[in-house]
Amino acid sequence: MKKIYLDHNATTPVHPEVLDAMMPFYKDIFGNASSIHGFGREARRAVEGARETVAAFIGSDPDEIIFTSGGTESDNTAIRGVMESAPRGNHIITSVIEHHAVLKTCGYLEKKGCKVTYLPVDEFGIISVDELKKAITDETVLITIMHANNETGAVQPVEDIGNVAREHGILFHSDAVQSFTKLPVNVDKMNADMLSFSGHKIYAPKGAGALYIRKGTKMSPLLIGGHHEKNRRAGTENVAGIAGFAKAVEIARRDGVETNKRIAELRDRLWTGLKDKIKDIKLNGHPEKRTPNTLNVSFKFVEGESIILNLDMEGVAVSSGSACTSGSLSASHVLLAMGLDHATAQGSIRFSLGKDNTAGDIDFVIGIFPGIINKLRAMSPLYVQHNGDDDEN
Ligand SMILES: *Cc1c(COP(=O)(O)O)cnc(C)c1O
Repeated sequence: MKKIYLDHNATTPVHPEVLDAMMPFYKDIFGNASSIHGFGREARRAVEGARETVAAFIGSDPDEIIFTSGGTESDNTAIRGVMESAPRGNHIITSVIEHHAVLKTCGYLEKKGCKVTYLPVDEFGIISVDELKKAITDETVLITIMHANNETGAVQPVEDIGNVAREHGILFHSDAVQSFTKLPVNVDKMNADMLSFSGHKIYAPKGAGALYIRKGTKMSPLLIGGHHEKNRRAGTENVAGIAGFAKAVEIARRDGVETNKRIAELRDRLWTGLKDKIKDIKLNGHPEKRTPNTLNVSFKFVEGESIILNLDMEGVAVSSGSACTSGSLSASHVLLAMGLDHATAQGSIRFSLGKDNTAGDIDFVIGIFPGIINKLRAMSPLYVQHNGDDDEN
């Protein structure tokens, strides 16, 4: 059976060129980048070369990039690092639709005595800059609001957020894991002080990522030990992972515009196909202000989990809610925050496309979908009742 993977916001396969770029660091160039002999110096060259590649791509200095184990560590380092070393103030502003790596870190800091404001979102999943301004107090130290949402792809007004933060002398961190390589990310345009990135969302390996930290930003390290990464992240560098991460960035710089355009066309083909064939469905997230690869759809009167299992039997991989919460039947906090009722939120599917998807894949999915939805709706008491209502009107 042909397998069709439409869950790239959960993780991506490692690009073959990325794997090739990594292999030497598992074989001949295995040195510790802190060693002063030739083995070490070669590893060090690779790490510093990777830093330059990543920095150039986002318009920063190489000194402002540290390598981490991924998005979660970058988010934790940014938020906890800043709050722990803030000379005054204890207030954080974030949003209700953040990834759990941000939300739960803020929750942890609340227990330690910080105050946190969770900004609401509109029906498209986007925060209001006016509400942000109103939330600012004399105690506000940090604004952490993601660039693009992992579930809906909705893009936040990060440039405006960055401007507001700058005007008030507040630090601005953004989780850019989902926007990185899909939307332009530039540290100065965004007025960002910190940005989180993850390798495995951009065809690099799991367990590799980066954090941009603007020069002069005061923050304590999360990991304490050696002098690695300018004392901001102790631990022997994951040289192969770092080389792979940089290679994925190089590929994005080379092919990104074309790849993203092609993926957006497939994404729109999928939405048009589903919308034309299935009644009572709804697009979640902003129709335009969205990452090019993400389509989140509610199928009324059915459960997302059942759709996933039926698609899985046909070799098609999608997700509902976020990967971290699947397995539990709780509805997505992101969709609920956008005003969806529980049942509709639970009947939602996230399609996230990637570079290897073809028009044939999309047409196959469009072909099998109506049958699956009709079958599930026929078994749904909600749907039977809904149709009954229709007949009476
Ligand atoms: C995947 C993801 C993360 C976590 O990144 P890891 O590298 O898996 O730790 C954080 N934020 C967002 C928006 C994500 O999509």
